[in-house]
Amino acid sequence: MRKKIDEVERAPSHGIRIAIVLAALSSMTGAGCATNPATPEERGLTIEKVASREVVVGPVRAEQRSDGIRVYGSASRRISRRGAVPGHVHLAIMSPDGQVLSETDASFMRRNRQAQSAGFNALLPVEAPPGSVLRVTVQPNPCCNF
Ligand SMILES: [Zn+2]
Repeated sequence: MRKKIDEVERAPSHGIRIAIVLAALSSMTGAGCATNPATPEERGLTIEKVASREVVVGPVRAEQRSDGIRVYGSASRRISRRGAVPGHVHLAIMSPDGQVLSETDASFMRRNRQAQSAGFNALLPVEAPPGSVLRVTVQPNPCCNF
């Protein structure tokens, strides 16, 4: 599977790819802070949410940036209760053929002690081809990477 991707990377369209990147860069610098109108979702990224026994995933937003896909979301307990939202989220981007392109963990952060939901955000440094899936999975344990 890995090999397949490498072959695609070495495909003869190299010059074209570089041209696209350059065009993207120049349009970015030229337009200042203008954002890319096409979100990853509009370009065919499906967001899949996997809850844990205690915690469900709320709204999730994904933005394609020059450095990758920035994911913002929130999560809350199934039964609202005071205190921290337990666990963390595991984020993975999978290509249409099911390969994991990038994955990372994100901790829950509450805006304040009273907040019933917790936010999370992370950067997945990839560009997802159309038909990719962003899977947001709540893990019951605290985040290990932070
Ligand atoms: Zn994880």
